[in-house]
Amino acid sequence: MSEHTRAHAPDHAAVVHGVPYPNNYSTEMLTFDRGKGVYLYDRAGKRYLDLGSGIAVNALGYGRRDLARTAARQMRKLIHVSNLFATEPALRVAARLLEAAAAVLRERPAAVHYGNSGSEANEAALKYARLYALRTRGPGNHKLLCFENGFHGRTVGALSVTPNPKYQDPFVPLLSDVTVLPYNDAQALEHALTPDHAAVIVEVVQGEGGLSVMTSEFAETLNRVCAEHDVLMIADEIQTGIGRTGTFLASEQLALRPDIITLSKPLAAGLPLSATVIPERINSQVKLGEHGTTFGGGPVTTAVAEKVLHTVHDARFLDDVRQRARQLEEMLHRLLSERSIVASLRGLGLLRGVELALTHEQAAEVIPRLLERTRSAGVLVLRSGANVIRIAPPLTISPSEVERGITTLDRELQRVEDEIAQNTGGTE
Ligand code: PLP
Repeated sequence: MSEHTRAHAPDHAAVVHGVPYPNNYSTEMLTFDRGKGVYLYDRAGKRYLDLGSGIAVNALGYGRRDLARTAARQMRKLIHVSNLFATEPALRVAARLLEAAAAVLRERPAAVHYGNSGSEANEAALKYARLYALRTRGPGNHKLLCFENGFHGRTVGALSVTPNPKYQDPFVPLLSDVTVLPYNDAQALEHALTPDHAAVIVEVVQGEGGLSVMTSEFAETLNRVCAEHDVLMIADEIQTGIGRTGTFLASEQLALRPDIITLSKPLAAGLPLSATVIPERINSQVKLGEHGTTFGGGPVTTAVAEKVLHTVHDARFLDDVRQRARQLEEMLHRLLSERSIVASLRGLGLLRGVELALTHEQAAEVIPRLLERTRSAGVLVLRSGANVIRIAPPLTISPSEVERGITTLDRELQRVEDEIAQNTGGTE
């Protein structure tokens, strides 16, 4: 079958109904078979341009023989040893992460705790912060501070600092003593941050909560007040880290100086791996056996992560990301000026958001339809928050692929715009 025929095959043949997963997932799912470059192929052979990267994970694209070779070679050598022992790939990646985190961490990074997911990386960060507060200031200094529309994960600790009623309400009581503040409100932060807090956890771009970007004023206030009270700042760079925003860490662009950094999504190019990077000041308070993991930082995931870090650290790679980001931004600006349904643009680098001028009720109906149609047209985009379309392509996307993806999105936005105008009888 030619590429052309495949691209036009209907996708319904690849949709499975009655998926045997719990009801927290959709019971109807498109089933993918393989990927190459920035394209995914469903099981009926139809091709999709992926502007979502498996939710900002597949930063180097699909079908990478170099990564497959690395993983296969390491699997032949050694797959698992437990965290009672070290392996060379894990040690090498830890060294690289310590070096990279030194560009932003307030103090020289000293240790990396590996995990398997973003949530686990944040759990570790919160636990280290509480250990530090307990051992340096005594009991009662365990409060956590987080921000509206932040997202830090689904495990109970990470969920406690993810103040979204839809995710939290069925599971209360969660951790107590969590302060929630509006994002980017420097005055509120100045007022609310007290020394009985162990940590502030924050994203540079709110990846799941609508793609708001941290302001420089807010970054400066965070740096100052956290240092003043010796409250640890955890920068959750799980979605923004490892080149996604055009620099290795997004914190670099705002001169944010956190005490702890958490990384995950693209770290091992789609294999499960996360990292929590801490300085000696914190590490010196932690005792043997106080935290741990079975699979985190195994030799296969870290061998692949080494390749990822090597690729992304190349200055030319990040130059290309910044160029693509500029192209994407220009195209999105055109959407903003030409489409009345586009209310604003959000995000940074190759993590971008298109806010739609829809009420929450309209968004609940219109956005799923828009995503479905875009998908039928062979382009995958994501949602972030209630009314923002998220674009987070593989960082290896080419100029013509950006062009094609955004042209398709534009066409579908225009369709929705026309339908809304018809329904409201508007003529403009
Ligand atoms: N933190 C941020 C910023 C995220 O975007 C996510 C996932 O979307 C997480 C934490 C949680 O990661 P995971 O789903 O791997 O537990």
